[in-house]
Amino acid sequence: MLYRSTRQPPAAATSVVIGEAIRNGLAPDGGLYVPAAWPEIALRDLQGLEFPVFAARVLVPFFEGDSALASEIDRVATRAFDFPLILKDLDESTAVLELFHGPTLAFKDFGARFLALCMNVLARGTPLVLVATSGDTGGAVASAFATLTRIPVVVLYPENKISPRQEKQLTTWGPQVRAFAVNGSFDDCQRMVKEAFLAREWRERFSLISANSINIARLLPQMACFAWASLEYKRRRGREASFIIPTGNAGNACGALWARQLGFPIREIIFAHNANKTIPDYFVSGVWEPRPSIATLANAMDVGHPSNFERVLDLFPESQELRRFASAASVSDREIEETIVDEHRETGEVFCPHTATALRIRRQRQHGDWIVVATAHPAKFETVIEPLLEQKLAVPPALASLLGRPSASARVGASLDQLSAALRE
Ligand SMILES: *Cc1c(COP(=O)(O)O)cnc(C)c1O
Repeated sequence: MLYRSTRQPPAAATSVVIGEAIRNGLAPDGGLYVPAAWPEIALRDLQGLEFPVFAARVLVPFFEGDSALASEIDRVATRAFDFPLILKDLDESTAVLELFHGPTLAFKDFGARFLALCMNVLARGTPLVLVATSGDTGGAVASAFATLTRIPVVVLYPENKISPRQEKQLTTWGPQVRAFAVNGSFDDCQRMVKEAFLAREWRERFSLISANSINIARLLPQMACFAWASLEYKRRRGREASFIIPTGNAGNACGALWARQLGFPIREIIFAHNANKTIPDYFVSGVWEPRPSIATLANAMDVGHPSNFERVLDLFPESQELRRFASAASVSDREIEETIVDEHRETGEVFCPHTATALRIRRQRQHGDWIVVATAHPAKFETVIEPLLEQKLAVPPALASLLGRPSASARVGASLDQLSAALRE
């Protein structure tokens, strides 16, 4: 299996094996890596498997041709996915795919742990993970590399703009993970990371590793989650389901499109958004217009320029082709709050603000079978949920043990020079 950049025409593309695509993160021409061809997968052989075994079987063809990684895939999947993936029945035509039972309680644990274990095999020179975070990514990456590898991590986050629990997940890992509170916005953090990848000084000192969702190693496990859930729903109910996916940078949604592309039984895919409407507007107009992000209650989806949409457009360059089975909708903060309250009253379940966007859309549809994707544990967003429900949320053990550990982080100005100086200290 080979990968090409989204910025190269398929016929003329220079292709790389998976290890090189993972190590590079971004393709040299600035595009994102996508599979150059799609493998045939025999769905019959995959029925009823536990997720780690299932994921290894689905991912094997994607690792073919890489002499270092291909033989490791079983071991990587077993160790990376050592927590439950749960498809929970909500009513007779709705199930909830709970992707949040990993160590940092958001779906990003799947991709971050898989990436970390792949990098254990691939890393050379003086590796360093450099990651900017607006909330959940940094915690998942810090946890994965700190517990599964010896590779050091530098996390940049905007000072005073993430929740105290999110900050805990970045700052309690000891010397292997250095967390910097940047005096600026998330966009500043992301700019500093991009500048570091281009700066000669940084490239001479480190073999930099990109852990944002442009990295193909984060997308492939997400594709496997959707593939597994689609088969499991069909096995239980004899019908094919559609997915509604809380979407920000569109990594998760791209994973679902890829699972459908592989032939898994997925009818429709709905991209659920908060007030950031770049993708919903594209579905209406067919015109791609990125814009600055707007702050909402579902903060992990506050993205105005969803980078993974480049992969969606690569697979479906014509918007009418994509519209045949996909659509998008936007949900306001008020609707998010109403949904959290209504669902709790009617089903007894507590949902995070991101998951609430998808549930809202489910409740607006009459027909069909739906899998609502739950991207984070509600306890991570207690500051939003507790006042609405007028009750305290139980803290899961993984988070409780983290909250008790000492934190360390340093402040830094919003420039790469200041970060370089801080790292030398
Ligand atoms: C990252 C995140 C999202 C958005 O996922 P994308 O792959 O960026 O679209 C949604 N919900 C939660 C809780 C997240 O952490």
